[in-house]
Amino acid sequence: MKIPLAKVDLLDEDIRRVTDALRSGWIMQGPRVEAFEKKVAQFCHAPHAVATSSGTTALHLALEALGIRRGDEVIVPSFSWIASANSIHYCGATPVFCDVDPETYNMTTETVERRVTKKTKAILIVHQFGMPCDMKAFAALAARKKFALVEDAACAIGSTYRGEPIGSCRYSRATCLSFHPRKVVTTGEGGMVLTKAADIADTARTLRNHGMPPSPPSDTFTHIGYNYRMTDMQAALGVGQVARLAQTIRQRRSIAAHYGKRLKNISGIRLPREPGECESNFQSYMIRLAGKLAAARDSISARLASAGVATRKSIAPIHRQPCYSKRARAVLAETDRLAADGLVLPLFSGMAEQEVDFVCEQLEQTIARSVH
Ligand SMILES: *Cc1c(COP(=O)(O)O)cnc(C)c1O
Repeated sequence: MKIPLAKVDLLDEDIRRVTDALRSGWIMQGPRVEAFEKKVAQFCHAPHAVATSSGTTALHLALEALGIRRGDEVIVPSFSWIASANSIHYCGATPVFCDVDPETYNMTTETVERRVTKKTKAILIVHQFGMPCDMKAFAALAARKKFALVEDAACAIGSTYRGEPIGSCRYSRATCLSFHPRKVVTTGEGGMVLTKAADIADTARTLRNHGMPPSPPSDTFTHIGYNYRMTDMQAALGVGQVARLAQTIRQRRSIAAHYGKRLKNISGIRLPREPGECESNFQSYMIRLAGKLAAARDSISARLASAGVATRKSIAPIHRQPCYSKRARAVLAETDRLAADGLVLPLFSGMAEQEVDFVCEQLEQTIARSVH
């Protein structure tokens, strides 16, 4: 057996929609992008949706539309994809890195509060690997300290918090999605800003299209904007995936549950924790190797690869990257430990139970060999 870390979930009907878009003669941002925005907005219970060229550009637009600028600080976890921090930097603001929880891998109000200063203007809340953060706790903190909440939900489309989909923006000003192939819905490259606020949506639409407001139609540029548009070909690829997203999430959750059952009695493995008020889409399933096994993580990953099981060695923390390390003085102990002992296991739509079993058997054997 050969088991990849992830697989893109594309059906013939998805491909047909793309060729329909091509044959229509309209291939740039047009009716299909609008239809895709409506579908995602509906699924996520978001009043407004603005499609973009990537998750990164969605984050940049959301932060700029919120007025984040030079001199501001935005708190963000280091245990994230580097674009979370870069998008803050694009606004001229400073990313301030916080630590994360050892079991959910998410930032918490405790880890954030340590990093608050007079310059803190916003918190970029990353729902890591699709696991929702405790939004209610963050909303209370934000109300007390008077800063804005923005959600980096690049990994979290289809996850729910207190029974409501991520993207509803009940607790935040804006939520950003990514449609990179490593995410649960993909358009090749793509992203989206979701918001309740009509003015944020308007500004994002304007900035996305070179700074030209979408209505009334004119050749007037009110902002120095960007070209962050999505194409109709990309949107066509996403529509069908959103239509079957509820089923995709059920599948992913049942695979994660099977992993949990199989792995919970293997000593030396720590499983991810899903808080009671959250339902993760399990964009990724990361375990931790405890004790002596932690030091053997890289060789365990290599042995699994030769047994046909692809894994990923956690996330490279942003504050350890050469482009940020000089500025980041924070001690982020849990982030460093997670980077060293985390192992992401294969999980994809359509993964069979026997494939999960195979991964677990190989993991168990590899661990047994590593202990001796
Ligand atoms: C993937 C990802 C991004 C960036 O999305 P792109 O579409 O690749 O630009 C941002 N933040 C997080 C947490 C991500 O996982």
